[in-house]
Formats: sequence, C-alpha cells, structure tokens
Amino acid sequence: MSTMANIKKNDTVRVITGKDKGKTGKVLRVITDTEKVVIENVNVYKKHQKQGQNREAGIVDKAMPIHISNVRAICPKCAKATSFRRKVLSDGKRVRFCRACGETIE
Ligand SMILES: [Zn+2]
Repeated sequence: MSTMANIKKNDTVRVITGKDKGKTGKVLRVITDTEKVVIENVNVYKKHQKQGQNREAGIVDKAMPIHISNVRAICPKCAKATSFRRKVLSDGKRVRFCRACGETIE
C-alpha cells in the first residue's frame, strides 16, 4: 500500500503551490504510480475534443493531475489543511485520522 499522504478519492484538498495555490477541490482520481491526484477545478486546461460517437467536437475543460506533495488534505472534522495518518483499531480495522485534531476520518 502506498503512503500517498493517505489521500483518497472524494477527499477535499487544498493546493499549496503552483498556479492554483489556495484553491480547494474534491479529489476525482488518485494515480498511485506517479503519486499524482486529479482535483475538481484544479490545474484545468482547455482540451480540444474530437467528435466521437456520443459527443460533439469542441473545447472542454479538463483537470490535469498534480503531484501529491502540492496539496494538503482538508480535515472534514476540524477544517484544517493537514494530512491524514493511518492507524489500526483494537478490532483490527484500519482507519485514517487527522494529524491536527486526531479525529477518525472515513
Ligand atoms: Zn482534523
């Protein structure tokens, strides 16, 4: 299992560097091979789309991956930009918890 700052799909993260510094968004995809994440409305480029079977040709906004080190997780419990750690509960279940407030994160 990759450490990947323990960020998962659907987490909310804040960008801390680059052209989208300060933006927050939902993680759409985690690419473990390159340690990158695709975030909603972050690092968006205009992409020319060719006409396909079920779509019109045109220009679409496409979010491109950015490196995991450029983002911080936003804790849903304390709302701080932080990172998550993992721990194993007494019943053997693995959970994530917030480094800032210590609360368990789903
Ligand atoms: Zn927290």
